[in-house]
Amino acid sequence: MRTVVIVGAGQGGFQVAASLRDEKFDGRIVLVGDEPELPYQRPPLSKAYMNRTMLDSGIYLRPDTFFAQHNIELMTGAMVTRVDRVAKQIALGSGGRLDYDHLVLATGARNRLLPVPGNELDGVVYLRSLADARSVRERIDMVQNIVVVGAGFIGLEFAAVAAKRGKKVTVIESTERAMGRAISREISDFFQDAHRAWGTELLFGTTLKRIDGDDHVSEVETSDGRVIPADLVAVGIGVVPNTELASDAGLRVANGIVVDTQLSTADAAISAVGDCVNFPSHFAGASVRLESVQNAVDQGKAIAARLMGKSISYNAVPWFWSDQGDLKLQMVGLTAGHDQTVVRGDPAERAFSVFCFQGGKLLGIETVNRASDHVMGRRLLAQPTSLSPDEVAAENFDLKAYVM
Ligand code: FAD
Repeated sequence: MRTVVIVGAGQGGFQVAASLRDEKFDGRIVLVGDEPELPYQRPPLSKAYMNRTMLDSGIYLRPDTFFAQHNIELMTGAMVTRVDRVAKQIALGSGGRLDYDHLVLATGARNRLLPVPGNELDGVVYLRSLADARSVRERIDMVQNIVVVGAGFIGLEFAAVAAKRGKKVTVIESTERAMGRAISREISDFFQDAHRAWGTELLFGTTLKRIDGDDHVSEVETSDGRVIPADLVAVGIGVVPNTELASDAGLRVANGIVVDTQLSTADAAISAVGDCVNFPSHFAGASVRLESVQNAVDQGKAIAARLMGKSISYNAVPWFWSDQGDLKLQMVGLTAGHDQTVVRGDPAERAFSVFCFQGGKLLGIETVNRASDHVMGRRLLAQPTSLSPDEVAAENFDLKAYVM
């Protein structure tokens, strides 16, 4: 194998390229990304970058010298428009073509758009790219009333930054609780109280019906008839995986590009990594698509190892974090579908952990300002564990002692 072409120069694509060099791959690596930037990390876009505690230079995964030093051909601002599996070539929007021996699809995901009247008005914004974050960051300074649509991680992180900057923030969420797709009710309740204490109004069980304004947004109306003044509407209602290159090339797509435990598509010359991938997960007990840095990084490393002839069966422990105000939420495992929780620590002291079980089996641990439980949880879940709810609930339970 002489040439590996990677489509998408985000977290996962970058990791494949860097790990191939770590694994001593001496062939050609071409990393093709449609954004005009060096590969960068997205998490700070709604956190430290948004609240200006991270400088522009801190956002990049590596300085530009890294790519030349590691002989990685980075093509920025280059959109891949087609994969020709027979010729083993990709086509670029600029008209060129590139040969590959192995192709990695690392195309990530794009924002789900808000399907309501007025969504085209100036002042309706999304947060996915560095360009989005730069623009939103400037706009916050110039507005007072901010409506956030969606109480998921990104929406709430942004809401926390905006509230801290003294803005009047209203969050509109169609379901009954915050971050409900991914975390336990205990954590939702805690964060809802925290956001309210920071001055943010949270509206649950209602959706956005209409956005009004002349050229620029001035107010929104909810499905239950409230009219809320808004100078900025920040939409965070989830993402859609970028799978079109794969499906157009005849590869299977089902909520992501379908891969096996080797992270290979049905075409042995094409792998896929990160947010765009649907893979069999032992932790989910099914195939799953995850949107996290951990997933993109660990899958990137695994693909590089496989391309260098190592045997892999991707099974990394999933973990995730979210920073909201002074609160650090960390999750390990996949806790959706749990039927029992045990809380350790004290929410009133703003440091606690929620152990989530299903049928007595530990699915994962969600922690707030308790990094040590998170770290221990990652070690614990890396092996099969019989830790029971009763053991966790015992007065003298010590997770660290249990794991070590
Ligand atoms: P991406 O990093 O999105 O990279 C995909 C790249 O492919 C993009 O640059 C895209 O433009 C490019 N591309 C797509 N199609 C083409 C094409 N045809 N040709 C060329 N290039 C193409 N995760 C966490 O774990 N913790 C967090 O706290 C967290 N916070 C986040 C906050 C924000 C605001 C956002 C947006 C995401 C956050 N995430 C977080 C998620 C995390 O950033 C993603 O899971 C991760 O970036 C996925 O990496 P990826 O390589 O799959 O996709």
